[in-house]
Amino acid sequence: MGITADNLKKVQSNILRACQKAGRNAEDVCLIAVSKTKPVTMIEEVLSEGVLDFGENKPQELRDKYDVLPKDLRWHMIGNLQRNKVKYVVGRAVMIHSVGSFELAQEIQKEAAKKNLIMPCLIEVNMAKEASKGGIMPEDAIDFIRSVSLFPNLHIEGLMTIAPYVLDPEENRIYFRGLRNLAVDINRENIDNICMRHLSMGMTGDYEVAIEEGATMVRVGTGIFGERNYVL
Ligand SMILES: *Cc1c(COP(=O)(O)O)cnc(C)c1O
Repeated sequence: MGITADNLKKVQSNILRACQKAGRNAEDVCLIAVSKTKPVTMIEEVLSEGVLDFGENKPQELRDKYDVLPKDLRWHMIGNLQRNKVKYVVGRAVMIHSVGSFELAQEIQKEAAKKNLIMPCLIEVNMAKEASKGGIMPEDAIDFIRSVSLFPNLHIEGLMTIAPYVLDPEENRIYFRGLRNLAVDINRENIDNICMRHLSMGMTGDYEVAIEEGATMVRVGTGIFGERNYVL
């Protein structure tokens, strides 16, 4: 077994343990293997272990990998998405996790209508209000979701957050709990076309805490594929 498969097994057993601790079903937590910057050969190794969900944060990279890998893979767009790159993602990704502006939602609507499909999306919320990050401020989320709920080709299925980089994952528990509470509040509004059933939260450093707080999708990169080398 290669290092990547080995890492994967560890992550999967940690997920299982976190689910048990929280009294949750392991089937209710989807592991997204974040393969950004990593080669197709490593993705194939993880794929051969039965993982089908992969995350990318660059539209062209998602497109290129989609085009060469088996079509039963499920690609998740998890990163900042510029409007002029929406065309690479709609029709390839099963979900866009990072809808954080009205203009982006509008562009996704346009592209999805053109391709005659419904695009599942999550709204990115900036729970820790970090200036360096995108996303909707939590207090604006309900109004924002009302405004994008009118787009017929967008299917808003939940919320996503990127928690701060911390050494102790416990520090992020309040943000994960906050995201879950926000989803509950949004569901109470009974907005047409809106059902909050997904919480995409938790990365290599904090996915176990996120699962304890109700994550339905965790996005793990380094924990599976190892450190990323950005200077190629
Ligand atoms: C890179 C990335 C991840 C994975 O980060 P790791 O710390 O390597 O697990 C998760 N979510 C988003 C949005 C990312 O860009």
